[in-house]
Amino acid sequence: MITIENGRVLYGENLDSMNANVLIQDQEIVEVSQNVRQGKVIDAKGCIVAPAFINSHIHLGDSVAMDMGDGKPINEIVKPPFGIKHQILAKTPPDLMSNSMRESIWEMLRTGTTTFVDFREGGLEGIDILNEASEGIPIRKVVLGRHDSFLKSTPNPVIEVIVEELLESCDGIAPSGLGEINDSVASVIIETCERMKKLSAIHVAEYEQVQRDSVNFTGMSEVQRALNAGFNLLVHLTAPIKNDLKLLADYGVSVVCCPRSNGALAVGIPPVKQMFDLGVNLLLGTDNLMFNSPNLLREMEYTLKVTRGYYREYFPPREILKMATVNAGKALKLNIGSLEEGRLADVVIVEQMSHDPILSIINRTESKNIKGLITEGKLVCIK
Ligand SMILES: [Zn+2]
Repeated sequence: MITIENGRVLYGENLDSMNANVLIQDQEIVEVSQNVRQGKVIDAKGCIVAPAFINSHIHLGDSVAMDMGDGKPINEIVKPPFGIKHQILAKTPPDLMSNSMRESIWEMLRTGTTTFVDFREGGLEGIDILNEASEGIPIRKVVLGRHDSFLKSTPNPVIEVIVEELLESCDGIAPSGLGEINDSVASVIIETCERMKKLSAIHVAEYEQVQRDSVNFTGMSEVQRALNAGFNLLVHLTAPIKNDLKLLADYGVSVVCCPRSNGALAVGIPPVKQMFDLGVNLLLGTDNLMFNSPNLLREMEYTLKVTRGYYREYFPPREILKMATVNAGKALKLNIGSLEEGRLADVVIVEQMSHDPILSIINRTESKNIKGLITEGKLVCIK
């Protein structure tokens, strides 16, 4: 048993600030109250006790291509199969790839992230490289695979077999975008994921051109097509058109926003406030390691301020912290993301540097201010 005592706890799904102790038994939080105190005691005086962060979208493989391609058009950098990123990945030896991924995984732990969702290129071999890179590191990974056959005119029964094989080794499927695969491939992917109770995700409406192409070729926006196909997680939504946002809300799917990536690629700012006002469940991801560190503290601060700047009005910081915790826990159905009885104990303990604990995390926290990290009830030694 572990008790975290004397901290300011951000409790429950609303991240309510309260002075309390947190009792952890085995993997779970079993009590949050003022007087509980059993087992090993961690003194969190002067600290905030918050749910550990969930990075809902990352491409760890791109750790080998940091800051490459800056200034080039987005399709030249990341569009499969010939983008700069894909050329670099294709010629990187697996051991080099694995080592650089491993560094990025440790960087996530150092900045308070205990769960990440990776878009994993390279089929089964790509999944193996990530498994090797993360071996022995106390982080929870949600791996979404893909296969080059999705991009070619492969018969649907063959796609189905390939998807089944991938899903034996990973948590879901994530093709790059609807510009690269046709709608019938998307349907096979979704049907197979649903049958095997796995996740499906895809980049959607990342920039205006992909939306124009989608409408020109199919008469529908990428958002409409992704919703029709039945994907669980849509990533980006930087360039919605017509009634895309209303549709999102009607379908009740979750959207992963990656504002630093969109900023780096000069494609716009995701409509965080409009989606929030419509009731869309919003998550946060650091996206491509080429442009961004995998640091959700940085992502939260950028998201808060760019959203306020874009709309020229207040946006609540609590909702930004929820994007990196509570909302992601719900979307991924992992029993994480909030500190309350019965949840898995994924906890970050950080120094409190201002009177407002949520703004203290978003505006001021660096990795040096993280005083403790717990994953599934176990204290993590951060390298
Ligand atoms: Zn991405």
